[in-house]
Amino acid sequence: MAVEILGSINVDIIAALANLPRPGETVLARSTEKLPGGKGANQAVAASRFGADTYMIGAVGKDGDGVWMRSILETDGVHLLPVDVASGTPTGMAYIALDAAGENQIIVAPGANMAITADAIGGAAPDARVFLAQLEVPIEAIAAFFNPDRVGHGLRLLNCAPAIPEARALFADTDILILNQTELAEYAELDTVNGVDDALAARQLITRDDQSIVVTLGAGGSCVVRRNSHCHAPAVKVVPVDTIGAGDCFVGALAALLDEGARLEDALPIANAAAAQATQVAGGVPSMPMRAMIDEMLAEKLREPT
Ligand code: AMP
Repeated sequence: MAVEILGSINVDIIAALANLPRPGETVLARSTEKLPGGKGANQAVAASRFGADTYMIGAVGKDGDGVWMRSILETDGVHLLPVDVASGTPTGMAYIALDAAGENQIIVAPGANMAITADAIGGAAPDARVFLAQLEVPIEAIAAFFNPDRVGHGLRLLNCAPAIPEARALFADTDILILNQTELAEYAELDTVNGVDDALAARQLITRDDQSIVVTLGAGGSCVVRRNSHCHAPAVKVVPVDTIGAGDCFVGALAALLDEGARLEDALPIANAAAAQATQVAGGVPSMPMRAMIDEMLAEKLREPT
């Protein structure tokens, strides 16, 4: 079996600051780092490190960053199915400002990611059982990727991030939607995420009886919501160092677990543990844990006296 991912590939430029700049303000960074990222690449590496045979459809520019990102994915065993883009279209870049409290502001210049067309999506990868996309590539390309004729009986996972209203058009052709509380508030058109009943809000997004909505709740863990049921998995307790990539780690690990045939309810606590571990390491791709480490972490927890 295999996981096939359609998604973004970015280079993250991370500037550590004392305070985030206000409009019109210039601030000096304490340090800067260039790290591999992009929701698609992060999730592909997370799935691969979690043991899934992982294919990724993605685009980079014909530039040094593109060569670098391809080698990063290859090193992690991700089979990249590259989409050719015109010369002069740069590799996607994310400019991330990170303050001392871990709060961030992110500007994404999508570059090659937005040059992926529906026509560039060929047949499904051999043995693919789980199909996963996020929203940093064109919606038309995702619709072609999730086309029922293409995926057959495969499981379609849409990580609805970042929140884009037009993405609602994809919901009916998706089996599992995965989103965080901020995204849930946007799709459910709520003013606030505080005090909201997540299950009630998530149920508004359901289009079919056999559809599941997974909501990630930060330090609250995650939950799965269906038309007539709801199940919560608490987070593993950690003091986060950097939450960049935690959500992507959760999604990639979940895809790998579902590819193995796990039930969603059984997969959530393991994906929570993986994502908690991702908060302990800076950056997107570099923070994705290996499966063996998470299995060991969970076994250790079971041995702890209650
Ligand atoms: P979020 O996108 O903030 O909902 O985070 C995604 C996932 O990362 C959550 O479902 C948790 O499993 C994990 N996570 C995020 N923040 C924390 C935290 N402070 N402590 C433990 N786990 C976390």
